[in-house]
Amino acid sequence: MGHKYNKDNIFAKILRGELFCDKIIESDYSLAFKDVNPRAKVHVLVVPKKAYMTFTDFVLKSSNEEKTDIFNTILKVVEKEKIKESGYRLITNCGKDGHQEVQHLHFHVLGGQPLGGFIKKLNII
Ligand code: 5GP
Repeated sequence: MGHKYNKDNIFAKILRGELFCDKIIESDYSLAFKDVNPRAKVHVLVVPKKAYMTFTDFVLKSSNEEKTDIFNTILKVVEKEKIKESGYRLITNCGKDGHQEVQHLHFHVLGGQPLGGFIKKLNII
């Protein structure tokens, strides 16, 4: 993984309207759309509109408005997808060990069914 934001990553292309996405909602600073390869009945990705590679990047460089906005957008997704009462899981993979595949920050919102245990126990290396 490089350390510089690549403006040709898939989510940057979606944000520019160059690639299709199945949009759920949009705000001033964030966009929410369905994951193309859903891992649960509900699997939505929430991304900031500005170019942040990782969660670390976002926390360090985004404004308070952007930070508030992305969490409010996640909550709106949860309400729109009707999973507020039944529960859900938020994941953001960060960097190499976090197995982040797309180098534009995104939160996975998963739910709509029981999601099982948190994560399988790993062999500690
Ligand atoms: P990561 O492993 O980076 O946390 O997750 C990347 C996610 O992006 C994966 O769940 C994958 O299915 C999703 N994804 C990859 N390409 C596309 C795409 O072109 N459109 C949408 N909607 N999701 C994508």
